[in-house]
Amino acid sequence: MPEAMRIIPLGGLGEVGKNMTVYEYGDDAIVVDAGLAFPRDEHLGVDLILPDFTYLRDRGRPVRAVILTHAHEDHVGSLPYLLREVPVDEVWATRLTLGLVKSKLDEHGLLRASELRELDPEAGTLELGGFRTEFVRMAHSVPDAVAVVLETEAGRVLHTGDWKLDHTPVDGLRTDVGRLAEIGNRGVDLLLGDSTNAERPGVTGSERLVGEAFRQIIPQRTGRVLVASFASNVHRMQQATDVAVEVGRKVCVVGRSMRKNLNIARNLGYIDMPEDVLIRPVELEEYEPGEVLILCTGSQGEPLSALVRIAYGSTTRSTSSRSSGPRCCIRRTRRSTSPATATRRSFGR
Ligand SMILES: [Zn+2]
Repeated sequence: MPEAMRIIPLGGLGEVGKNMTVYEYGDDAIVVDAGLAFPRDEHLGVDLILPDFTYLRDRGRPVRAVILTHAHEDHVGSLPYLLREVPVDEVWATRLTLGLVKSKLDEHGLLRASELRELDPEAGTLELGGFRTEFVRMAHSVPDAVAVVLETEAGRVLHTGDWKLDHTPVDGLRTDVGRLAEIGNRGVDLLLGDSTNAERPGVTGSERLVGEAFRQIIPQRTGRVLVASFASNVHRMQQATDVAVEVGRKVCVVGRSMRKNLNIARNLGYIDMPEDVLIRPVELEEYEPGEVLILCTGSQGEPLSALVRIAYGSTTRSTSSRSSGPRCCIRRTRRSTSPATATRRSFGR
């Protein structure tokens, strides 16, 4: 009778956010994702919500590896806090996820807290202590997402991370259905799947539909255009930029996290944006409103996002002594009491 594999969810089960699952076999522990949750209205004065690391701290042994499925904050955001409290031998993630995580760890002075390893979903199996792992490419709203197969004598688990069956993704990298079928043929003892709104009937459209909408709407506009999205939605930034280039608009990225992610994604070759198209926020007033497109965060009405600050005239730019700038682009982000309902209507995740 083989030893049991133990699975301990520390967050993300029955809730949105702070995804983190511990897999234990023998003396080895592998953690899949280390996410955080953002505070809601009732969490007055709370900046971030982290999983409870007590279980890992009390084990008294280093974690063999943390595997990150993709770069969303609800999957990677608590990593710096975890590394401060729990010794971790290695952190494994795909190229873009690792690039984004490195910059986060650097900000926390934790770049050397753990060995950072790049994983390649096409590279076959990887032995991590008593676990045989392999990875499957999954399409999601941030590039370079993977599912994880964890195999021990006790059985085979497929942990999907977040995913989407997008048959025409912007980067051409579809969810690897063939690999999933092949793993299914081998036999999966436990499937742990996660996809926002998976219980709702119907089909989620391809990310490319958003690009088509940009192509229809943006050329008709004569004023300033703002496009809001998650700071990590590289494909949406790419599609908005492509249309901006086509109609001769300059692109200005407003918001620290989006600028940072854009730079990392450009350096790693995940986004193609000509240098002469980009302008800085301070340069905005040199252009007529119809000559620019602003990319910013705030697609879900997040209280401190660039879009909300622009709407209320409180961006760094608009509080300066000069009177123009992005201040007047939007009067209100919410038409109801819930900012999310008003701003989320246009496009899904
Ligand atoms: Zn995600």
